[in-house]
Order: sequence, then structure tokens, then C-alpha cells
Amino acid sequence: MERPITGFGMDGEGDPVAILSCGHPQHVRHQPPFINRPWVMDEQGRRSMLGKMLDCVRCEKFELPDDFVAYKRTAEFTETSVPAALTRDHSTKTGVWAKINVVEGRLCYRVPILGTQMDLSPGIIGIVVPEVLHSVEPLGPVRFFVEFYRMPDQAPA
Ligand SMILES: [Zn+2]
Repeated sequence: MERPITGFGMDGEGDPVAILSCGHPQHVRHQPPFINRPWVMDEQGRRSMLGKMLDCVRCEKFELPDDFVAYKRTAEFTETSVPAALTRDHSTKTGVWAKINVVEGRLCYRVPILGTQMDLSPGIIGIVVPEVLHSVEPLGPVRFFVEFYRMPDQAPA
């Protein structure tokens, strides 16, 4: 899915990467004549690319960025206390990932845009991708909570 570039960095080998709004890094090498990205070579060029969209395959694979940290979690919900908003399509904010943790029972997790529907249970965690509409539905008695993740260096919301 398309994600805007929010910054730049380097990978372990010193190759330039673009950081996308989802938190995923993506290589933006300049290797003429094969890959031509002269803009990546200087600060001004990189800045001109902020906000440009790149396709992020890792979001479509539900990959929580490695360095993200948990910063908040919900109360534990049951089939009777689950907020109605969670059972309708909703999404997290830009850059906010989450894990749906089932403590007991089963929960259906649907992500229509990514064509995914799965049964969550203890040990089978649902990964919530930033800004992607999703919903849950208790499958009988269930206890679960949601834990939110973000980039480590951000101030509390
Ligand atoms: Zn991504």
C-alpha cells in the first residue's frame, strides 16, 4: 500500500533508506546507471521527496516495524464489554500499530482492504496496521486487550 516518506536514514551497510509514515524503512539507493535517484545524494534533494508516496509491501504483510515499542494498552474486554466502535470498521492513527491479544476464547479479526479474516486465540496475535480499517467480533466468550506501538523516539500523545 502507498505510504508517504516522512524522513530518511541509513541501513546497517550505510545505504540510504526512506522512512515511511508506517515506520518501515525502504531502500532508496542511487546506483547509476541501474537505479537513478540523484536526489538522495543531498539534503535538499531528500527534503524535496518528503511526502512522496512509496509502495510498502511490509505493511501488506502485517509486519510490525522491528524497533517499535509498546506505549499504551486498553483494558481487558469481553464479549459483553467490547466497545461497539471496535466491532465496526475503524483504524489507528498514522504510525500507530497495535497487537490484539486474546487472553481466553476466540475473536474474529477482519481487515477487508487486505483481504484478511482470521480467528485470534491465545498465542495467535492480530497485528493492526496504521490507518487500515479493521474490526473484531467475539466468537463466543472471549477476553482480549489491545496494545499500541509506535516509533521509540516520539513524545507521548
Ligand atoms: Zn509499511
